[in-house]
Amino acid sequence: MTERYNTLSAYLRRRFGCKVYKVTVDGGFTCPTRDGTKSRGGCAYCNPAGLVPKAHKGRRTVTEQIDSGVEWVRKRHGAERFIAYFQLNTNTYSDTGRLRDLYEEAVRHPEVAGLCISTRPDCVPDDVLDLLEEIGSRKALWLEMGLQSANDATLERIGRGHTSADFRDAVERARGRGIDVCAHVIFGLPGEKEDDMLGTVRFVSELGVWGIKFHQLTVLCGTPLEDTYLKGGLKPLGLEEYVRLVVESLELLPPRVVVHRLSGDAPARYVVAPRWGVNKFIIKERIEGLLEARDTRQGVRWRG
Ligand code: SF4
Repeated sequence: MTERYNTLSAYLRRRFGCKVYKVTVDGGFTCPTRDGTKSRGGCAYCNPAGLVPKAHKGRRTVTEQIDSGVEWVRKRHGAERFIAYFQLNTNTYSDTGRLRDLYEEAVRHPEVAGLCISTRPDCVPDDVLDLLEEIGSRKALWLEMGLQSANDATLERIGRGHTSADFRDAVERARGRGIDVCAHVIFGLPGEKEDDMLGTVRFVSELGVWGIKFHQLTVLCGTPLEDTYLKGGLKPLGLEEYVRLVVESLELLPPRVVVHRLSGDAPARYVVAPRWGVNKFIIKERIEGLLEARDTRQGVRWRG
């Protein structure tokens, strides 16, 4: 690690020997917190409409979505290879026959170097993990799994519909099959103090996750959280506070954990608060600036 933290872009370059970017794929999934299985309306902070790339409107095939994503990302970022990113909603929430069809279509695409599949800890039964293990033996593959907080009271408050024990169980079963897991965590959730947020980072570190994504809690329009915020029931984190929390989290992480993101990145037109969150480049600059100013780096406080 030559940088002060272990970035995904450096990891992908080491692994594939070239510039690798993700292209989003919409597999047409829903979530158990949307279809009535656990609840309706989704997690309190979620507005998936903000994640749908314009090019994907109209439900095209996996191949067509990858084709248009590759063309755009290659032009914009000069990427040479691509990760098919099943990003929208819960991308393991179906029977294994349908999942196999979708994943295999991505695997067959000649530009695809690997798959990234975003999901929840309560939607990865053993038969789905067996399928992922088998595909992962032929193609690079990792799971992105939402935890958000290791505090069960917080998970209940934001309507996640699972517990931290579900996350532990899912990670252990995935790791037992050699499947890498990247954990999503959110800082600034309602009712959380600094100890809760750093406790979440310690929890995922001790579980042996392969990667982590940090997000600031963002109030998006059209979500239950927007109501809470407008009624004065939520005070978003300030930029300085968020930057300091991420730096301290990086110190707590094992050095080998791959850092996929330093902040969330919602389209500006959906963001109610905090507005500092709309510029991820400034957030990254501030985090890297504080790492530099403190002369610190990922892993210095890891005691694994
Ligand atoms: S946060 Fe994830 S699990 Fe919750 S509603 Fe949104 S996409 Fe579904």
